[in-house]
Amino acid sequence: MIEGSCLCGGIRYEYDGEIEEISICHCSQCRKAQGSAFAAVSPLAADRFRLISGAKLLKEFRSSPDKLRVFCANCGSPIYSAKDDRPEVKRLRLGTVETPFTCSNVFHIHVDSKASWFDFNDTHPRFAGAKG
Ligand SMILES: [Zn+2]
Ligand SMILES: [Zn+2]
Repeated sequence: MIEGSCLCGGIRYEYDGEIEEISICHCSQCRKAQGSAFAAVSPLAADRFRLISGAKLLKEFRSSPDKLRVFCANCGSPIYSAKDDRPEVKRLRLGTVETPFTCSNVFHIHVDSKASWFDFNDTHPRFAGAKG
């Protein structure tokens, strides 16, 4: 079981599954949404993600017409994103995870949009845009 929470602790969740992929997204939307060089994200099966507390703190922002970014209305932590045409998938922001885990399937996406000040120091695969 994977457990996590937002910065203020108002939102708590659990996921009955494994983190099978770490997608490090350098797109300009993710950079702004995180306030950082990238977002570290994993797709989850939406039906195995369960909110333990904080349902009324979940605030949704549409960064694209078909894409929701969901964050804590109190502290601002990004929690997950979801696309209208893929309701079975949530894309979890891995910085909110508290349970230690490892995952070797790590890759960078949208590196064409990366912050000019960020330098890669790993050998993970890099994709100019979306993966594949
Ligand atoms: Zn919060
Ligand atoms: Zn992105």
